[in-house]
Amino acid sequence: MSTNPARLSAIEAIASQPRLQGSFDFRNEKIDLIYGQNVFSLDKMEKRLPKEIFKALKSSIEAGNKLDAAVADIVAAAIKDWALECGATHYAHVFYPLTGFTAEKHDTFFEPNGNGTLAQFSGKALIQAEPDASSFPNGGLRSTFEARGYTAWDVTSPAYIFDTENGSTLCIPTAFVSWKGEALDKKTPLLRSMAAVNKAATRVLALFGKKHGYISASCGPEQEYFLIDTRLFHLRPDLYTCGRSLFGSKPAKGQEFEDQYFGTIPDRVLACMMETERECFKLGIPIKTRHNEVAPSQYEVAPIYESANVAHDHQMLTMTLLRRVATKHGFVCLLAEKPFAGVNGSGKHVNWSIGGAGVGNLLEPGHSPHENAQFLTFCSAVIRAVDLHQGLLRASVASAGNDHRLGANEAPPAIISIYLGDMLNEVIEQVKKSGSAASSRKGGHMTLGVDTLPVLPKDAGDRNRTSPFAFTGNKFEFRAVGSAFSVAGPLTVLNTIMADSLDKLADDLAAALKKNADFNSALQGVLKDILTKHGRIIFNGNGYAEEWHKEAGKRGLKNLRTTPDALPEIVAKSTVDVFERQGVLSKAELESREEIYTHSYVLTINTESKLVSDIAQTLLLPAALRFAADLTPVEKTKSGGKLRKAVIGLADELAASIDALNAAREVSKSDTHAQAKHSCDKVLPAMLKVRAAADALEEIVADEYWPLPSYQELLFLR
Ligand code: ADP
Ligand code: MG
Repeated sequence: MSTNPARLSAIEAIASQPRLQGSFDFRNEKIDLIYGQNVFSLDKMEKRLPKEIFKALKSSIEAGNKLDAAVADIVAAAIKDWALECGATHYAHVFYPLTGFTAEKHDTFFEPNGNGTLAQFSGKALIQAEPDASSFPNGGLRSTFEARGYTAWDVTSPAYIFDTENGSTLCIPTAFVSWKGEALDKKTPLLRSMAAVNKAATRVLALFGKKHGYISASCGPEQEYFLIDTRLFHLRPDLYTCGRSLFGSKPAKGQEFEDQYFGTIPDRVLACMMETERECFKLGIPIKTRHNEVAPSQYEVAPIYESANVAHDHQMLTMTLLRRVATKHGFVCLLAEKPFAGVNGSGKHVNWSIGGAGVGNLLEPGHSPHENAQFLTFCSAVIRAVDLHQGLLRASVASAGNDHRLGANEAPPAIISIYLGDMLNEVIEQVKKSGSAASSRKGGHMTLGVDTLPVLPKDAGDRNRTSPFAFTGNKFEFRAVGSAFSVAGPLTVLNTIMADSLDKLADDLAAALKKNADFNSALQGVLKDILTKHGRIIFNGNGYAEEWHKEAGKRGLKNLRTTPDALPEIVAKSTVDVFERQGVLSKAELESREEIYTHSYVLTINTESKLVSDIAQTLLLPAALRFAADLTPVEKTKSGGKLRKAVIGLADELAASIDALNAAREVSKSDTHAQAKHSCDKVLPAMLKVRAAADALEEIVADEYWPLPSYQELLFLR
């Protein structure tokens, strides 16, 4: 078999690469010693700050409050001294604009002195800065004449030092807002939603007579990704421009052998993983799990859960480090949701719960009837929240990339439902029925029917993979989130709708207690009411099955298949109401977000479709025609004639489909939403037609003519 020369030299290079030499060894370098070494942790703060200042800072961190200006200056000076001791030369405010990526601008610690030398700057700018932010998407919130936004240190997330080959930078995690205080980023609403959860949960817990600390939302995000050899990657313009392949015929071997999931991790990949983990450990990111995923060349990394806000920052850093370290090992880390058709895509499971000191995890079933009642209360609040805002949750995971994954028989469908597992489901059914003659009575008191809450299985292996939102023992797992996503959006939605549900529950329970002094029966009435109204969102069966789609329709659940279908939920009345009520985002802020995400969808499809057209026109069609031309001398033979005819037939099909795609691309609507619909309904199908013709050609054109590395090469060579 003769292979295209560019591909051949990439393959030869991979085949002859020298054996790996480790650059460090975890056996000599203790993880617990490097863990958090680059973080300005509470521990370091305590050592470097005056007692009073530390106390003030600590209470700000715990309650998520803004730092007092006088305290801020002293803290800034301490951070600066520490960073300089660590060898940092620059500092950067890190923020999370609505692009979904991380943004940062670096400045040195040194300023000219006026006498030709450099002096250290005072450090004040560490707490608050004014980056010229006019080029970040703001969806009309900020016109250019008032272009300034400012970034302010989020004290709940510690400063850290980011090491690179030629130097180190002090990074300050910040929130990014307009001068009027409108959120321009993903962190600000996340922080506001955390405060909302605390407030609402506190109200409910007060009715339970509970004393507790700050109630915080927690998140443990599992990240799936692909590692592809750089040399092959650079021969695929689709991969290096869009992060996903736009062409590629089905390989002879895919994932059907099921030999990949939890399989032995290849040496070269393991070395890369370990180095990524080492960088994570230095930054205090508690990475716990690594393993092979279902598709060839697909892997997963997961940390131990943390406070949602810190988990978010750490997740963004983990994505950065995955990409960075991969290149050192000759890999490219693909975080796109569906880099390859025909094998599994990548998700980011967002494990979420709420809890705090004194009460523990509020989604953990307890040991006593009282604790169980509390657990069922919080669980019912989740059920209500998800049912009422199912469309919004779907919108929180909507993107052009994730549309290729959701519902593709590997990832949950676009219909949002909750999986509870059989045991919890039974309990919930009991609560629903309670109050009827069948409910249990004990000592004259009606009980919740949960005195004997069974021990619920905790995350026993694979559970129900088809559910977008599953209860897994002591947390909910939102599985519809795409691998490239920031977890901030989904977490903000979860926290906000949960806070609102808890508020409603507190109102109802307080009202019921006024009428009926018996706590148990008052609570029972409230929960029964919630579960009767919102129980339709619970589904424990197979989410992939066609029958479920019908059944969900009957239940009135939303099936928002595509991003243009889903995004309008962000500005639906129910969303605006709940976000304004909870003080998380205003109508104007929500509108700006919806516009930015819609625009970003259009931009993505524009780029991808242009690339499909270009690759097909300038790489694939010429390859096919050259091959056909070279077949002319053998045209008279049976096989030569047949092959040439087939190639020309498909090449004609390809050419026609390129024309059709270009025509669809030229349609321009004045309204972004209409353009998004057009991209979805007309451009995407036209892209797929081009691909179908090209993939068919790939299967019959001689290998030496085909310019793009095959799926086989991309997925199996390392
Ligand atoms: P899997 O879903 O693959 O079985 P694990 O059970 O190991 O994975 O857990 C997945 C993630 O859930 C981990 O990041 C873990 O720390 C996180 N997690 C565990 N408990 C909680 C919790 N109470 N709140 C949020 N995340 C949690
Ligand atoms: Mg999981």
